[in-house]
Amino acid sequence: MNKALVLFSGGQDSTTCLMWALEKFDEVYTVGFEYGQKHSIEMECRQKILQSIESIKPNWQNKLKLDHIFNLDFLSNVNTTSLTHNVEISHHDKYPNTFVPGRNLIFLNVASTIAYKYDIEHLVTGVCETDFSGYPDCRDNTIKALQVTLSLGLDKKIVIDTPLMWINKSETWELTNELAGQHGIDYIIKETHTCYNGDRSTLYTWGYGCNECPACELRKKGYLDFSGI
Ligand code: ZN
Repeated sequence: MNKALVLFSGGQDSTTCLMWALEKFDEVYTVGFEYGQKHSIEMECRQKILQSIESIKPNWQNKLKLDHIFNLDFLSNVNTTSLTHNVEISHHDKYPNTFVPGRNLIFLNVASTIAYKYDIEHLVTGVCETDFSGYPDCRDNTIKALQVTLSLGLDKKIVIDTPLMWINKSETWELTNELAGQHGIDYIIKETHTCYNGDRSTLYTWGYGCNECPACELRKKGYLDFSGI
């Protein structure tokens, strides 16, 4: 059986990855993480998405299997970042303070334990190098090295799929269009959450958000580039 485990947060990128996995695999498992993120509203979005995404396409139906949620609150106790604390988003250091050190590394390690339990070969994650922040744990070399480490450490073949690694935000919208057409685009706009401030009070053409934070800016620019507006 062709199985994948998607690291799924309820955001645009991981929802696109979930669509990608539903298109390519027979069984799709999901895992999400609570790490003290301020935009915990994404966890509510993710539950709604898990209940409805299979209905987008006939060939996606009955593919979703178990969902897991892990509490990794300790991440917010170690470093003060603007994703986990009420501090302004800024860029004083090498990376913006939206960088949560170790986050994606730990996510993939935890995910690998589920992959082992259910004999899943593929981990799917929405990290990408074209992200404006250049987070070091999103780089292709980091992921490739981790893939080797996990495969050796578990004595089991683990492949980490990164469908978004080399594409920009506009091309992420295009990928959704290829996978699920306008229905998929509308679904991403209305159901996914990206805004760092957790704002879902206003629906813009590109989705809900505060329209000001870097995540909203990126999502908006990608949509406008994609739609040619
Ligand atoms: Zn925002």
